Amino acid sequence: MNLTIVGCSGSFPGPDSPASCYLVVADGFRLLLDLGNGALGSVQRYASLDAIDAVCLSHLHADHCLDMCSYNVVRTYHPSGPMPRIPVHGPAGTLERLDRAAGADTGTTMAAAFDFVTLSPGRFEIGPFVVTAEHMNHPVETFGFRLEHSGRAIAYSADTGPTDALVSLAAGADVLLCEASFNDGPDLPADLHLTAGQAGEHAARAGVGLLVLTHLVPWNSKERTLAEAGARYSGPLALSSPGLVL
Ligand SMILES: [Zn+2]
Ligand SMILES: [Zn+2]
Repeated sequence: MNLTIVGCSGSFPGPDSPASCYLVVADGFRLLLDLGNGALGSVQRYASLDAIDAVCLSHLHADHCLDMCSYNVVRTYHPSGPMPRIPVHGPAGTLERLDRAAGADTGTTMAAAFDFVTLSPGRFEIGPFVVTAEHMNHPVETFGFRLEHSGRAIAYSADTGPTDALVSLAAGADVLLCEASFNDGPDLPADLHLTAGQAGEHAARAGVGLLVLTHLVPWNSKERTLAEAGARYSGPLALSSPGLVL
């Protein structure tokens, strides 16, 4: 499996990164995990937009799904003609939400360009990947994912507050792509996001091979985020950055 960080900015795009988007490739199959605002432009650095085979959306916050509206334009109005429908896995209500965001008053629907598949917890296949989806701890229905292929595993937290479900989802994974939206501090909102220290703690409990901190909010200090995670996790650790390939 080849994982490319397309966008890793948390909650909104930053000056150097789009919001959440990750490209995972195996056996020539290209899967996008999330397609947050600003990400569609950067995807084109790593893959042609007609060469994406499936999209998997963790949840319906704008920073994880909004560029589906722009991708719909590309697949529908390309001068070579409409592109074939590809599957888009997302929480219940994904099509309706995206249609509203794209302007359903025009009478068009994204169902013409994409085959929407409703996620539920459990194991299933997307192309060559064996995917496990589990509910995370976030104010809207949110799925974390574990992708397995050829004996390797990547886990992705999506957005989540502390949850044992992330520990079991990521157990023994080669890579945990884990959100670290907050730095330590008083009065942090509950059940919304992880601190970097909590990301480290979840990674340590899961026994992952490499922790990659992501969903990095532009107003936080990256150095402090790395240090706080490192204080709770002694294994290999990295900050995500656009273009990083694992
Ligand atoms: Zn987010
Ligand atoms: Zn969110």
